[in-house]
Amino acid sequence: MALKRALKSNIQEMIEGLDKFNSDPKDGTTRILFTEPELKARNYIKEEMAKVGLSVREDAIGNIFATLEGSDPSLPVVWTGSHIDTVINAGKFDGMAGVVAGIEAARLIKEFGQKHKRNIEVLVYTSEEPTRFGLGCLGSRAMAGELSLDKAKELKDEEGNSLTEVLESLGYDLAEFDQIPVKQGGVFAAVELHIEQGAVLESLEVPIGIVESIAGPSSFEVSIAGKQSHAGGTPMNLRHDAFLACCEIALEAERLAKESASKDTVATVGRVEVLPNASNVISGEVYFSIDIRDSDYEVKSECIDNLMKFIEEVEEDRGLTIKVEKINDDQPTPSDQKIIKILEESCTNKEIRFHKMISGAFHDSMMVGKFAPIAMIFVPSKDGISHSPKEWSDYSDIARGTDILADTLLKLANE
Ligand SMILES: [Zn+2]
Repeated sequence: MALKRALKSNIQEMIEGLDKFNSDPKDGTTRILFTEPELKARNYIKEEMAKVGLSVREDAIGNIFATLEGSDPSLPVVWTGSHIDTVINAGKFDGMAGVVAGIEAARLIKEFGQKHKRNIEVLVYTSEEPTRFGLGCLGSRAMAGELSLDKAKELKDEEGNSLTEVLESLGYDLAEFDQIPVKQGGVFAAVELHIEQGAVLESLEVPIGIVESIAGPSSFEVSIAGKQSHAGGTPMNLRHDAFLACCEIALEAERLAKESASKDTVATVGRVEVLPNASNVISGEVYFSIDIRDSDYEVKSECIDNLMKFIEEVEEDRGLTIKVEKINDDQPTPSDQKIIKILEESCTNKEIRFHKMISGAFHDSMMVGKFAPIAMIFVPSKDGISHSPKEWSDYSDIARGTDILADTLLKLANE
């Protein structure tokens, strides 16, 4: 006897149901942490969880847990889940697909009728996106013990409200904040379904991605002080052009990523501020970001070292001052091999083709991976687009991913 198939109609109904809670429905989906639409979406999803017979609770930062009880609730629990908040003018799948798949999977397991051993929990992690407080993965970060109450007091939104003030105003009990972190061993396994947010699966025409590793991001803020002067009056050999130094560094970052020993290295200069930003002035100051990610920490570190050496050369050659501030330098998060094996078997048994890949984007699973074995299921993103109103994943693909998820959760719950 096997689990029934996930219902595409249930998936579609819940994703469209969530999408009604939207601050800017004319332009995709906008649902920012603890705004009215987000609070209503939380209530909606809690109702959907209760409807399939799960018991729902929340912790002091608003992480939602919906439990399907097993025969031995004392055993470490099996988790699945994702997030329901978005960036501004995003799509309706990033995060939501994983939460909805979790609820549908729990329904299938419950209706299967045979009691599993471990509790299975469907989670909504609070604010995976950094939209409101400038820091992402708030809920899962707190679970990993990396967001203390003091730090939460310092996090402010644009209006100057701190995260703790907002939590308190909504009735969350800050006295329970220190109970959020999850003990090592407390979670047996955590599997997150997510849209790919890239075009690998689509280009391979494969419906399921099994994530082997979440790339570790490193980011830097760079400032260059050159010499602002007249574009007509300053001969080329007397210039200290801050913008051109930035260009050289950006191109070198690209070259290092392309020629790195790891196929997964990516480097991006995504934000550049040029001063004074005038057509007849040689720029005197430039501020820009560098983002480097890789599934291989050693290779990434070597890449960064080489880039830093190159920056020193540029500084010397062009006679300007360059300051580099490291914002973060995270390790990649490998998936758990035991969970990967169950995912592979499940795909093989159902004759569904899969592709093993890395996740270039980070997810709550990166934080959860600090205290529990994790793995992720990817479903294809149309044209690889995400964080855009054009974001699209087919409901039938999400349903297929849900079948793999349900099967895997059930097996893990009986281990
Ligand atoms: Zn997401």
